[in-house]
Amino acid sequence: MKSPIVSFFVVALALGIIDPGYSQEIEPIPIKKFYKDRVTRNLKLLCKEAECMDNIVINDRGLYMYPTSQRVDKPEFILYWREMSHFNELLKEKSNEEIIEILKRKGQRYFHGIKSTHVDPAKYPISEFGGLKVAIDPGHVASNMGEAILERRYVRVEGKHLNQKKDIEFFEANLAYSTSLRLKEMLEDKGAQVMLTHKYGKSAMGINYYEWLETDYKKDIIEGYKSEWYNREKFNHLMSGDAPDFVMFYDVFRNKDFVARAKAINKFRPHLTVVIHYNASEGGQRYGDKYLPPVTENYSMVFVPGSFLGFEVDGADEIDQRFELLRLLVSYDLEESNVFASNVIKELDQQLKVDALPPDNGFEFAEKYAIKSDLADGVYHRNFYLTRVVKGPIAYTEALYQDNFDEIKLLGKKDYTIEGIRTSSRVKDVAQVYFSAIENWLDYNKAYTKKLDALFEDKFGDEEIYEAELKENASEND
Ligand SMILES: [Zn+2]
Repeated sequence: MKSPIVSFFVVALALGIIDPGYSQEIEPIPIKKFYKDRVTRNLKLLCKEAECMDNIVINDRGLYMYPTSQRVDKPEFILYWREMSHFNELLKEKSNEEIIEILKRKGQRYFHGIKSTHVDPAKYPISEFGGLKVAIDPGHVASNMGEAILERRYVRVEGKHLNQKKDIEFFEANLAYSTSLRLKEMLEDKGAQVMLTHKYGKSAMGINYYEWLETDYKKDIIEGYKSEWYNREKFNHLMSGDAPDFVMFYDVFRNKDFVARAKAINKFRPHLTVVIHYNASEGGQRYGDKYLPPVTENYSMVFVPGSFLGFEVDGADEIDQRFELLRLLVSYDLEESNVFASNVIKELDQQLKVDALPPDNGFEFAEKYAIKSDLADGVYHRNFYLTRVVKGPIAYTEALYQDNFDEIKLLGKKDYTIEGIRTSSRVKDVAQVYFSAIENWLDYNKAYTKKLDALFEDKFGDEEIYEAELKENASEND
């Protein structure tokens, strides 16, 4: 006789209580429900404040986005449920400006000439290394300690903390770059195509800060003012020539670098973008000759798109941000980012024993600017420039605390060289984490593809209006 436990297992499997993995049959899902569920869930992760949420109306017919939260004007973008697949196709084919034009022209009518609303197999998420395109953005620019001090991303610890005579020093740009190179190597071995956003020691403009100072950089200060990177007062200060290097670096050069990085990534059209940084404890006050006191905590976090604030999407000038919000509501970019980021956190925990930043961290960013992921601790939705303008799934990673006692010992070693860059072999462990997270993400996409296969075209509830418009168009064309 079978034991009762075994019979329970068999029955539970048959009833679908236990998920047996990819062999599971997926219930057919009507397209309308699929998109309505997606948009409704995404909205909670995309809007940090009511002033953002109030720009958007979701109803039985579709999604309406208004230019202001008061909704006094007409909706700026309207997408009906039957149009969602078509909109996702446009995202792959056209620029933001072109799609905004198309949406404005169509107004409250349907896209001209949409016929099949079924999901196009060409839009299945990628599920294997062959053909996979990954963009890697190694954080920061420095290639030596002097440049790292300029960008204020370095660790210098007194030897006495580690019972040794010699002080330890290293810098984040070196760790991030060598991690990126190692990950690139691993992915290419598997047949993936990988791009890095910049060369070692250079910005994505191809020059470093000092080389930039040799150029006609004042036009960039003016450009930055037009892009609202700073106010008039700061603009005058930057133009005066009295602004210190640190201010010039952060307010102009680095912003310009971000724009160039995003542009390069979008031009490459990757399936996935990984931004690689290393974390540091928030409280680490430098002392003496810029020494950092080591800490005992060691946490990771990963940022993904979302958490728009009210002022970022409210008003006529903010149409670009509203369009990105629309893309993130309707496309799979947000959920795919969330899944990948959660995989990174999981692997950091399992492979390196570094915990996710606990939810009750008391950090200001978490309170004011971020929304914690509904999939994992340590993953936060946040409206950074890169997480907003890069198309496709993206994770902005901040692995481990560089100023943690144990990490300092590991990261301070110069026991590994990759493409001529001397660094710590710890970066190999971190690259392995990203590699595993990508592997798991591809597996997730295999299951996701099944879900897309289960979609079917049901009633959208607006058949009469839709048919009438088709007839009208046909007679206009006569
Ligand atoms: Zn960083």
